[in-house]
Order: sequence, then structure tokens, then C-alpha cells
Amino acid sequence: MSAENATKRDIRALDLRALQAFFSEHNQQAFRADQVYQWLWQKGAHHFDEMTNLSKTTRALLDAHFVINHIAVDRQQRSSDQTIKNAIRLHDGLTVESVLIPTDTRSTACVSSQVGCSLDCTFCATSQLKRMRNLNPDEIYDQVMALDRQSQLYFGRPLSNIVFMGMGEPLMNYKNVIAAVERITEGLGLSPKRITISTSGVPKMIQKLADENPRFQLAVSLHSAREKVRNQIMPFSTSFDLETLQKSLQYWYQQTRSKITFEYLIWKGINDTQEDIDALVAYCKRVPSKVNIIEYNPTDFGNFEAADHKVIEAYKKALERARITVTVRRSRGKDIDAACGQLANKLIPLES
Ligand code: SAH
Repeated sequence: MSAENATKRDIRALDLRALQAFFSEHNQQAFRADQVYQWLWQKGAHHFDEMTNLSKTTRALLDAHFVINHIAVDRQQRSSDQTIKNAIRLHDGLTVESVLIPTDTRSTACVSSQVGCSLDCTFCATSQLKRMRNLNPDEIYDQVMALDRQSQLYFGRPLSNIVFMGMGEPLMNYKNVIAAVERITEGLGLSPKRITISTSGVPKMIQKLADENPRFQLAVSLHSAREKVRNQIMPFSTSFDLETLQKSLQYWYQQTRSKITFEYLIWKGINDTQEDIDALVAYCKRVPSKVNIIEYNPTDFGNFEAADHKVIEAYKKALERARITVTVRRSRGKDIDAACGQLANKLIPLES
């Protein structure tokens, strides 16, 4: 970044009212703010020169005061199952990862919300990176736009779904994630119902979120409905016991009438007993929910081993018997470390 640019503000940190105030201070008509806002958040402009319905003088005025910080796709890797992993360079040189997951009928963007992660889930590669900073709304928005362009280019259709299941804990970057969701639904014309925020379960933030009349979906990484086991594999959860989590989820349902999806990994020797199964069924009965059993993706550390198929079947049967919807999700992009819990900014060669 040049010394000159270092003193300029990032224009995407301004909301529409602040833009209007800027134009009024500079004796320009208020509708210029709407035009600029559209360029930034609907057309995804990264340079003032692209804003062709503004006069050269107005563009120069903007250029004198602001920069448009933006991401760049640094490297791309494609899995044998067509999943695409992107290493995304942020304006300050840090990197996050975003994944585009195509199926026959869908194109799902998996985006990051933090550089690294503030939590300490022992089975997740991202937790090894520690949290370096939160992503700004524009950095989340840019990931989605980049993946939407890739989806159109490679699969001939726009994004159909967005999941906040990349790096980071979205509810620990609450304000920016909410602002990003607003910009994304406006910019892509995508229904918020097609957006899922996945959290490790931060009760206070779930409660706060429920009060804001959200229209997106909530997924919670549960992995165990037994306090002792959950505290062992997700140590941060010692501060958020399962009962408080349950209350926040019941409140979420009361406010939104939208069922929670529990994400659930099953490991040998950790949560593969009948007691674990019974605890999950009982928890699900107390919270309107469905269960998504995720295949465990090995990382470079930790002593975790996926449970046998028989155990997964036992979980599935018990949940079905209790009339709880359950799906077993196959991993995508495993061969390029793009699957859940594998995002760790590993150095990867440029695609030839
Ligand atoms: N912090 C958020 C979002 C990121 S993780 C959350 O915890 O929900 C996205 C999902 O991947 C979570 O359900 C997480 O528990 C799961 N995950 C983490 N490590 C994994 C691994 N090694 N294999 C499979 N899934 C994993």
C-alpha cells in the first residue's frame, strides 16, 4: 500500500448515510451517494474508474479521499469432485480460504468470517491458526461475489446457497457478519433463507441474533450432547454449558419459527456409545431441530478417528425413531484440504 493510500479511508466502511453526508459536505447532489452505493454493493466495483455514470471530477473527488480495499484470489485448487478452494488475499496481506461446492442442482459458497479462529475445537485445523482479526463486511461480501463469478464461469449458474462454515466463528464477528449478510442479499438478490450461519454455539450471541428478526438459517456445531465430552473436544464450551445453549436455541425458535440444524461428527472412543446417542436424541427433543451428521475429515494433528459406519447407522436409526430429521453429509473437496475443518492456509501450488 502506498503512503498516500494509507491515509485514505476505505469507502466500504461507510454506510449510505455517511456517503450522503460526504457528498453534501462537498456540495454534490445526494443521489450521487446512491449511485456510488450501487457500484460498491450491487456491481461489486473495485475501482472508482468503473463508476462510469459519475463525472470525472466526482471520481477524482472520491479517489482523493478514499480507497476501495478489496480481496484478490491468490490461488485456486480444484478437487476431483469439482469443489474449488480459493486462497483469498486480503488488502493487508493476510489470507483466508473460501470454497465453492457444486452439486447437480446447487452451487454453495462456503465463506470465512475471521482470519484464523478465536475458538479451540480440538478436531478443527483452523483452530490451530488462532484468530488474527475479524473480516470486514466487504471482505465477506467479496468472497461471495468471487465465488458467484466462478459458479457462473465453471458451472453456468449463479450461487444458490451460502454457508458461513469456512474459517472463523461468525458469532464472534457478529456486527460484520450481519452487515455482510444484508449486503449479500441486496447485491445478489438471494433470499436470506438460502444463507446458513454456522456457530459453535455462543448462547448470548444466539439470543441477541434472535431478537433481530433474522431470516437466515442457524446451524450449531454440537458434536456431543454430554457436557463432559463436549468440554473435552470444544474446550471453550466450558463457559457455555449445554443448558444455557439449549435455552438460547429455544428462544431462537420461539422468535424465528425456524428449526436449528445440529452439525454432528462421530469419532471412535469419543462419542460412539449408546449413552451419546441417547443424550443427542434427548437434546433434540428439547430443541426444534434436525441433525446433519458430517463425515470427519482428518487433519494433520489430533488423535481423532471417524467412528464405524455401524455407529453412524445406530445414531441415524435412533434419531429417526424419535422423528427427528437426520441427514448424513458426504465430504467434499477432501483431496485438496477444502472440506469442513481442513481450512488452514496450507501452502498449495499454483494450478497449472
Ligand atoms: N465456527 C463455526 C463455523 C466453522 S466450522 C462452527 O463451528 O460452526 C464448520 C463446520 O465444520 C462445523 O460444524 C465444524 O464443527 C466442522 N468441522 C470442524 N473440523 C472438522 C473436521 N476435521 N472434519 C469435519 N468437520 C469439521
